[in-house]
Parts: sequence; C-alpha cells; structure tokens
Amino acid sequence: MDLPSPNAIAATLSSLADELSRQSFPSGALYVVATPIGNLADISVRGLMVLTMADAIGCEDTRNTSHLLARYGLSSTLFAAHQHNEREVAQSIIVRLQRGERIALVSDAGTPAVSDPGARIVDAVRDAGLPVVPIAGPSAAIAALSASGLLPAQFHFIGFLPAKDRQRDTLLSSLAASVSTLVFFEAPHRIVDSLAALLRAFGPSRRVVIARELSKLFEQIHRCALADAGAWLAADPNRQRGEFVLLVEGATEAADDMAEARRLLAILLEACPVSQAAALAAKITGLKKNALYPLALQMAGEDEGEGENETENNSGR
Ligand code: SAM
Repeated sequence: MDLPSPNAIAATLSSLADELSRQSFPSGALYVVATPIGNLADISVRGLMVLTMADAIGCEDTRNTSHLLARYGLSSTLFAAHQHNEREVAQSIIVRLQRGERIALVSDAGTPAVSDPGARIVDAVRDAGLPVVPIAGPSAAIAALSASGLLPAQFHFIGFLPAKDRQRDTLLSSLAASVSTLVFFEAPHRIVDSLAALLRAFGPSRRVVIARELSKLFEQIHRCALADAGAWLAADPNRQRGEFVLLVEGATEAADDMAEARRLLAILLEACPVSQAAALAAKITGLKKNALYPLALQMAGEDEGEGENETENNSGR
C-alpha cells in the first residue's frame, strides 16, 4: 500500500488540532512533555500543543531544545532545568505556577525523569500541592520492550549500570534470579564490556535483546542468546555505535530451558534436517519433541536474519 500523501497527513493533523482545541490545558500546571528519541515525527500532537502554549519551557539543555523546537517552527521562552540546578529551579517554577503560568518540562530526548533530570522538580511541585500533567510519548526503554517479544509480564528498569566493574558485577549478580525482564541503558563505549558482564552474571542461554538507534535511520533490534551477543557485536563495527537499550530475559525455568533448546537447535540445524534437530534437542534437554519441532521449523525458516530488524529508512529521519 502507498504511503498517505502529505496532504492527507496534514488533514488528519488538522482534525486532531481541532479536537485538541476543545480539550482542557489547565493553567498553573507543570506539563512533563516526552520528546522524540531520534525520529522528529514521534512528538505527540498534544506535546506540540503544550510546547506551543507554555509560558516557558524548562530544558535539560536549552540549545538542544531550541533546535528541536525550530524543526517544528516553534520559538518559545526556554530556561535551564538540569541535574545541577533542579532544586533551585523547582522553587522558581513553583512561584510561576502559583501566578497561573503553564510551565513545560522537557529533557534532551525521551521522557523527563526517566534516567534524565526532572524527578526533583516534579517532587517539589507536587509537595507544593500544584498539578503535574504528564504528556506521554517516546521512551527508549518502552520502545525496546514493545518490540522485543520477550513477553515481559513484569519488567525491572535498571537504567545505566554502575561505571565501576565491581559495583556493576555486584548489582548484576543480585539480579540473576529475578523473573522480570531486565532493562538497561548503555553507551557505545561500554557496550562490549557490559554484554560480557551480562553473560558472566546470567549465563549463556538467557536471551538478550540489543536495541540500538531506535527510531533512527539505522535502527537495529537483535535478539539472541547472551552467548552469541559478543560475536554479533564484533561482526560489524557499526553495531557498537549509537545509543543502546539492552533487555535481558527474566529467569524462569521454562525460559531457561527454551533458551537452551534454541541455542542447541541453532547448532544442530547447521548439520541436520529440522525433524532430526528437534529430536536431538529434545533428547538433550528433556523437552518434548513436539514442543521443539515448531521452534526448529521457525528457526530454519529464519536463518537469514531472524530476530533482527535492520531498518534503513530513507524517510529522512
Ligand atoms: N529519558 C530518556 C527516555 O525516556 O528514553 C532516556 C534518557 S538516558 C540519559 C539516555 C539513554 O537512553 C541512552 O544512553 C540510551 O541508553 C537510551 N536511548 C535513548 N535514545 C535511544 C535510542 N534512540 N535508541 C536506543 N537507546 C536509546
């Protein structure tokens, strides 16, 4: 199907703007606005409305936000609200809210207060009895979870791992028995070390999802056993660049068994037909052959790049 024309998109946006103009945006409230994590089009229409009407916008970095706003044709009054001035700036925000102003709060990308400044300001504004309105939108952790297929009935958001090896390894070993999907943020210069640490802490069979450059031109979402993650990264230097979310499957017996079966099947399928690979994997793991056969079939069909989502999108994002 063809993409909708810019005119059709403009018509949809204009009817949304109509709808929005009938919604309430109370004065004297702090609006916590999520902004794109890479793709400019990911801002919400409500977010644009708030950024347009706010009396002022508190920003992690005013230069970044002024570039972002310029791309939407907006030029609002900005002030700095970052990790080094949150406490003081909270007091001036409270005074402005008490005067009836609408103040928006943004971080450089994604949802403020999620591994980003903002929580202290929100805390102080709430303590002062003033309203805080979230304007929901992009967040790297949730985007990665949504495309992971890890069935995260529960997830545990960790964010960045400690920089020191000892502290990182202590934290990871305290999480080894957790049944929740574990969610980490990681920077490119530490991705190789962190994946090695995850392998040591959780063992080779646990599945990991490496989600890099989400919503950007070279987005990749690769799912594999932890044992194979290092080799995947090493296979192409570009895979170690950019921004990362790492998801590690929680510890359940079934998940560990299936992960082990997957690992075995990947090896066996290189040498055997699907049915024989499933039978051998069943013998080795003690799982039922009819539970492994569909998996083996799927893996055999997916050999050319399964679990991977390499988008080279030319839409200009
Ligand atoms: N508040 C942000 C959010 O809601 O997404 C997270 C801010 S945190 C300082 C930045 C980290 O989020 C990056 O180092 C990376 O781990 C992750 N991240 C942000 N954008 C990303 C993207 N487009 N793709 C993958 N990870 C991303």
